[in-house]
Amino acid sequence: LRRNPGEQEFHQAVREVFDSLGPVLRKNPRYTEAAVLERLCEPERQIIFRVPWVDDAGRVQINRGFRVEYSSALGPYKGGLRFHPSVYLGIVKFLGFEQIFKNALTGMPIGGGKGGSDFDPRGRSDGEVMRFCQSFMTEMYRHLGEYTDVPAGDIGVGARELGYLFGQYKRITNRYESGVLTGKGLTWGGSLVRTEATGYGTVMFTEQMLLTRGLAMDGMRVSVSGAGNVAIHAVEKAQALGAHVVTFSDSSGYVVDEGGVDLAVLREVKEVRRGRAEDYVALRPTATFVARGSVWDVPADVALPCATQNELSGDDAKTLLGNGVRAVAEGANMPCTPDAVALFQDAGVLFGPGKAANAGGVATSALEMQQNASRDSWTFEHTEERLAEIMVGIHDRCARTAEEYGSPGDYVLGANIAGFQRVADAVLALGVI
Ligand code: NDP
Repeated sequence: LRRNPGEQEFHQAVREVFDSLGPVLRKNPRYTEAAVLERLCEPERQIIFRVPWVDDAGRVQINRGFRVEYSSALGPYKGGLRFHPSVYLGIVKFLGFEQIFKNALTGMPIGGGKGGSDFDPRGRSDGEVMRFCQSFMTEMYRHLGEYTDVPAGDIGVGARELGYLFGQYKRITNRYESGVLTGKGLTWGGSLVRTEATGYGTVMFTEQMLLTRGLAMDGMRVSVSGAGNVAIHAVEKAQALGAHVVTFSDSSGYVVDEGGVDLAVLREVKEVRRGRAEDYVALRPTATFVARGSVWDVPADVALPCATQNELSGDDAKTLLGNGVRAVAEGANMPCTPDAVALFQDAGVLFGPGKAANAGGVATSALEMQQNASRDSWTFEHTEERLAEIMVGIHDRCARTAEEYGSPGDYVLGANIAGFQRVADAVLALGVI
């Protein structure tokens, strides 16, 4: 706390992991003797830089860029870039810290990192976004490489931004190094299923949790928050499995559609027009837009928070529990506050933490890296099958670990211990570095 003052989200993420580790530290004293926890709290490298660019009115704009290269014990640093006005070091470090354990849980050879900027792409022209991305990459490129650090997208960074970033990387380095970024477009080295993977994976994970109680997504009433990449694909997969999805949201409010969210309309509003949640209602008579209150006021069997950190509070958890929620899975990173998580767990509700439930995105990024390295591209069906296997593997690893440590059904404990053990063993093996 003293070394990282004011980095509230980072403290929250560290506490959440450390709260689970007591049993594994007691069983393996060498983790403590070799200061593994202390090492994992300190990023290997943190880069903060100025991003100057010129807006459409000819004014010079200055943003701040970040890349936290957190841990490379298991492979090159891997984790997304977030462009959002709320981005500061504490957010990037919380995301990077989470990423270490998430990536370890996938079982794939990827370390943890995260980056971004306080730049807000909303309301900016394509030209402005391009100039910002080019300036961002003009500093970032020297820290990246397919064996060093491999970013992807996150909030505010989708196919458009990744295209401009990759274009500038290629121009500066004079190398068509596909493996340096993931989430690329399909015509320039991307993988099928990467766009869908986080949302799909979250629903696949939820299905696995439900199965342990003899339940399934089919017929469930589902509420989703967010209306971005993760939310849209969570809606799509939940509907494909027979669920009735009734909500989505953005930072302006939320939509309730008792007729079931119309995916085509949602995509038109969000992906084509880059519009607001309210625009959906004009096209769907069964829907209503609510500007105040919380999307979690809407009764649901399954809740999938897919927007941002700390968006589901203790009060929201109480409302969901009062309405009979059976399962909650985090599509976003750390969307549930610690008191919300405790309430869900105390009530015996199935709870899938983000580092397990949303790991399908980064796992498919690793599949994209495999395809790039072998100059190959796989079919949608094959890649989705791999994703499904990976999600089942993550689920089972968490469930087994929770059972082994005496807390069956506790996916938080299972995910934290299983992720920690894999990375901690590698840290020990590599010596004091
Ligand atoms: P997008 O930018 O595509 O979408 C984000 C959505 O969340 C938008 O609808 C946005 O609304 C809403 N949102 C963002 N910030 C806030 C806020 N402060 N309050 C209310 N709503 C907000 O991002 P993604 O879908 O990619 O990411 C969503 C979450 O999933 C993040 O937590 C991210 O870290 C996590 N994640 C993403 C992965 C990926 O592969 N993309 C992988 C693993 C995790 P608005 O447009 O109004 O801001």
